[in-house]
Amino acid sequence: MTTIAFIGVGNMGGPMARNLLKAHDSVVAFDVSPAALKPVAEAGGRAAATALDAVKSADVVITMLPAGHHVRSVYLDDESILTAARTDALLIDCSTIDIESARAVHAAAETAGFDFLDAPVSGGVGGAEAGTLAFMCGGSGTAFARAEPVLAKMGKRIVHAGGAGAGQAAKICNNMLLAVSMIGTCEAFVLGEKLGLAPQKLFDIMSAASGQCWALTTYCPVPGPVPASPANRDYTGGFAAALMLKDLKLAQSAAQNAGAATPLGAEAAQLYALMAARGHAGMDFSGIIQMLRGIL
Ligand code: NAD
Repeated sequence: MTTIAFIGVGNMGGPMARNLLKAHDSVVAFDVSPAALKPVAEAGGRAAATALDAVKSADVVITMLPAGHHVRSVYLDDESILTAARTDALLIDCSTIDIESARAVHAAAETAGFDFLDAPVSGGVGGAEAGTLAFMCGGSGTAFARAEPVLAKMGKRIVHAGGAGAGQAAKICNNMLLAVSMIGTCEAFVLGEKLGLAPQKLFDIMSAASGQCWALTTYCPVPGPVPASPANRDYTGGFAAALMLKDLKLAQSAAQNAGAATPLGAEAAQLYALMAARGHAGMDFSGIIQMLRGIL
């Protein structure tokens, strides 16, 4: 039986940890929020009192934390995962964070003798619950080979993107494209409405024409054509605009550091910042169509 320390069992980490329990792993969880630990303990995991206690006898350590500074803190502080875990433990960070933080943790972990992987996910809370997440991984071939069977218990698609930080790079490139294609899809529906086209007719035409994209056919921002999309639930229960904004800011910062021109990514970041500033950070990101309609 593999012992897995899971640090950060919030909206994503909680169901991921529960899927490891379902796969008969032993899970020792730690979270600064006792409320987050409760469902994991109820599912058969052990709630540890500190992160150091959780990791000390683990074969694998997984972190799923909000942002880069949380990840730096749990790995790089004087008393941290790198000082408390066994050096043969495999370390996997699944948080979505800036590439610099991911690379700093990679370097420190390597110096301390650990295999470490950055492995951010896509698929959201639904994917975490269903065990169908996609993992984009950065690190050595050895770390990836060790991590693949563990990640397969929580996801369906596990891809080795490249070396240190490559998982984070792939994640922000993908989400920048998603934001741009969602805004473009919303604009097309808003224009279609003004020109007197029925949304279903426009959907039928575009989904079989060159405008076809995931934002249209799987996550349609108007109610009706795709019954499961958040548009049918008043733009709730999907991927919050605040999280998209976080990823777009990471993409913009990476683009500036790398000298890449991403004008549409910059515009998308501004539009989601405006949506958040108008008080709709918690709305699903496809709800940006309401802002384009002038409703938000
Ligand atoms: P969340 O806020 O629900 O969970 C994060 C958890 O980390 C919280 O329970 C918090 O108490 C805990 N935490 C914070 N600092 C800690 C520390 N020092 N030690 C231990 N626990 C600590 O966030 P989430 O939605 O689960 O997202 C986690 C990560 O996954 C983020 O990086 C996010 O960008 C990424 N992500 C989220 C989604 C999504 O749809 N929610 C999708 C893909 C990726």
